Amino acid sequence: MNQIPVSLDNKTGLSRPAMLLIVLGMLVFAWQVALLTRDRAIQLLEEESRQQLNLYVASLQGQLEKYRFLPELLATNTRLVQLLNNPADPERIDALNRYLATINDIADASDTYLMDADGLTIAASNWQSERPFVGRNFSYRPYFKEAMKGNLGRYFALGTTSNKRGYYFAYPVRHQEQILGAVVMKITMSNIDSSWKRPDSDFIVTDPDGVIFITTNPDWRFKTIRQLPPEVHRRIIESKRYRDAQLTPLAARFDSTLSDKQILQVYVPKPVKFLVLEQAMPEAGWKVHILARMNAVYIQMWRAVLLSLVLFGVAILVLLILHQRRRRQLDRVRFEQQVKKNLEANESKIRAILENTQAGLLQMNMAGTIELANSKAHELFGYKNGEMDGESFLACFPDESQQQIRRIFASDHPQVSTIETLARRQKQDVFPVELSVGLLRLSGEEKRIATVHDISYRVAQEEALQHAHDQLEARVEARTRDLTTSNIRLSQEIDEHRQTEKALRETQDQLIQAAKLAALGQMSTGISHELNQPLAAIRSYADNARALVDNNRLEDAYWNMQQISELTERMAQISAQLKAFARKTTGQLVRVSLTAAVDTSVQILAPRIKESGASIDIALPGTELYVMADMVQLEQVLVNLIGNAIHAVEGEQIKTIEVAASEREGRVITRIRDSGAGVDQENFSRIFDPFFTTKEEGRGLGLGLSISHRIVEGMNGTLQVDNDPRGGAVFTLELDRAETPETSDE
Ligand code: ADP
Repeated sequence: MNQIPVSLDNKTGLSRPAMLLIVLGMLVFAWQVALLTRDRAIQLLEEESRQQLNLYVASLQGQLEKYRFLPELLATNTRLVQLLNNPADPERIDALNRYLATINDIADASDTYLMDADGLTIAASNWQSERPFVGRNFSYRPYFKEAMKGNLGRYFALGTTSNKRGYYFAYPVRHQEQILGAVVMKITMSNIDSSWKRPDSDFIVTDPDGVIFITTNPDWRFKTIRQLPPEVHRRIIESKRYRDAQLTPLAARFDSTLSDKQILQVYVPKPVKFLVLEQAMPEAGWKVHILARMNAVYIQMWRAVLLSLVLFGVAILVLLILHQRRRRQLDRVRFEQQVKKNLEANESKIRAILENTQAGLLQMNMAGTIELANSKAHELFGYKNGEMDGESFLACFPDESQQQIRRIFASDHPQVSTIETLARRQKQDVFPVELSVGLLRLSGEEKRIATVHDISYRVAQEEALQHAHDQLEARVEARTRDLTTSNIRLSQEIDEHRQTEKALRETQDQLIQAAKLAALGQMSTGISHELNQPLAAIRSYADNARALVDNNRLEDAYWNMQQISELTERMAQISAQLKAFARKTTGQLVRVSLTAAVDTSVQILAPRIKESGASIDIALPGTELYVMADMVQLEQVLVNLIGNAIHAVEGEQIKTIEVAASEREGRVITRIRDSGAGVDQENFSRIFDPFFTTKEEGRGLGLGLSISHRIVEGMNGTLQVDNDPRGGAVFTLELDRAETPETSDE
C-alpha cells in the first residue's frame, strides 16, 4: 500500500524562516509606524505650538507696542524741556513728578521718569516711593545711550533699584535740535510669565545673548540656553543688566535625531524632551521660544505601535488561518487523489492476481449464476473471455458430479469445502478438478466463490505412481520369496556346519585324548617301572613281615608293614596323577597356578627324566604366577614340550632342560629350552603341522605340537619355536596373566 503524504510540520504550517520573516516584517512595520506617527505627532505639535507662539509673540508685541509711542509723545511735552532747561527749579520738578505719576498711572506702566543729558534722573513717577529714581544716575543703561543718540532706546533689564524685570522705552527730549535728556517709561514684565503658563508647553524669551529673561518656568529664569562665551558673560555682568544673576546654562542638550527640528532635552529635575520653536522680535531684539513637551508625541507613538502590532498580528492570524484552510483543502484533495490512486493500483493488482493465478476463479450469486470468472476459468471450461457471465455454474459439470456440487453449493455453512470431482469442458471432454466453494460477502450481499484447479496432470501422475508402486511391490514380493528360500537354505547350511564343527570338535577332543593316552603309553615303561619297584619292595616287605611274625619278631614285622603302607601311599599318588592327566578337560579358562602346572608335569615325567639322565632346571620367579588356562590342558602342553625336550637331549653329552617363566605386559611367558640339536631350518614351517615327526617309527605320531598349538590358541595364547644361540631348541609359551588371589591358600 502506498503511503499517503500527510503534512506533519508545526501547527502554523509555517517554516522557521517564514516565521522569522513575519516577525521581522512586524518589527519593520512597527518601526515605520512609530516613525510616521512620531513625525505626524511632531508636525501637529509643531503646528499647534507655532500658533501658540504666534499668539504669544503677538501678545508680547502688543504689550510693548502699547508703550512704544508713549515716551515719544511725552517728549513733545514742553514741561519736560523746561525742566531740563531749568533743572533746579523745585516747583517744576514737583509738578513734573506729579505729571509723570499721572501719566504712569494712566498708561499702567511701572515707572516713568526724566533724565538729563548726564543720565541723572530729575523727575520720576515714583518720586513718592521708598526708593525713588530721582537723583539717581542711569547713564550706563543702553536705552539712555540710544536715546541720547536721538533714537528710541529699548532695553530689557532687571531694575537696579526695584529689582523687577522691566522693559524700558527711552526717547530723547529735544529743544531746537538739541537733545536735552531722555524720557523713560518702564513697564514690568512679571505678569507675562504666569499668565501664559500651560501644562504642556513653556515659553521663554531670550535676549540677543541668549539669556532667558521671560519664562513660564521660574527655574529657568536668567539661565542661558547655551554656555555663554566668557567675554559676553563678563560684559553682561558688568552691565548689571540682570543684577547678580549668575547666568548659568540650562541643564539641557539639543537632540539631533531630527535634523529639521530643534529638540531640547532638559534634565532638571528629570529628563524631559521639548520641541523648540522660536520667533524673533527684531524691534525688541528678542527671541521668543516655545518649548512643547514631547511626552504626548511618544505616548501617541507607542500607542500607534501597539495598535499597529495588534493589527498586524490580527492580519497575520487571519492570513495564517486562510493559509491553513487552503493547506487543509490541498491536503484533503491530495489525500483523496492518493486514496483513489491506491485504490486503482490495488484494483489493478487484484485484477492482475486474479488473471495470473493458475486457478480458475468464479463468483456466483446464491442461485448459481456466474457473475464473474477469470481468464483461467474461461480457459478451463473452454469458453472465450467474458462468455461465462450469466451461465449456470452447475452446467460446467457432468451429470454424475452435479449432485455433489449441488450439495456443497446449498450447504448453509460452506466456509470452504474442497472436493475432487469431474468437470466438463464446453461440449467436450470431462476432466478431473479440485473444487473449493466458499462464501463471499460483498457490500452486505452474499455470494459464492469457487476455485477450480485442473488436476488431470496430478491424477495421471498419481496413477503412474500407483502403477510403479504396484510393480515395485510385486518385485519386492518375488525377491522376498527368493530370499526366504535362500535363507532357509542358509540356516540349513549353518546347521550342517554346526554339526560338522561339533563332530570336528569331538574328533579333536578325542584326538587330544588319544594324544594324551599316547603320551601315557610312551611313559608306560617308566610308569610300570615306577609301580613295579614299590610292588617288588612291598612283596619283599610282606615276605619279611611274614617271616618275622613267624619268628615272633612282631616289632620288626610292624615296621615292615608300615613300609608297605608308605609304599602303597606313593603308588596311590602316582596313580592319582596319571588319573588326573588322563581325565577329560572341562575346556573352562580359570585362574591356574603356573608353578603347580609345571610341578605336576615334571612329576608326571619324573620316571622319563630319571631314565634319560637329563637334569631339569626350573627357574620360576619368587612370587607365584597365575595364568588364565585349563589346568589339564596346560599340563598336557607342558608334558608334551618337556617330553620333546627329554627326547631331544637323548644321546647328547650335556643333557639339560630349562623351564623359565617371566611376566610382561599382562602376559606370562614360559620358555622350555633344551641342550639338544635344535630344529632343522627346513622344519620350522612344518613343525606345528599334524603328523609331522622326525622320530623313528613307533616313537612319535607327529601330533604333540600340533595339538599343543591348538590348545594354546584355545587358551588365548601363542606357542612359538626357535633355536637357542647356545644350541638346542627353545619353545616359548605365552598366556594371559591372571590376577593373584587376594587370600592365601593356607
Ligand atoms: P612326535 O614327538 O610324535 O614326533 P611332535 O609333534 O611332538 O611329534 O614333534 C614333532 C617333531 O618336532 C619331532 O619329530 C621333532 O622332529 C621335532 N621336535 C619337537 N621337539 C623338539 C626339540 N625339543 N628339539 C628338536 N626337535 C624337536
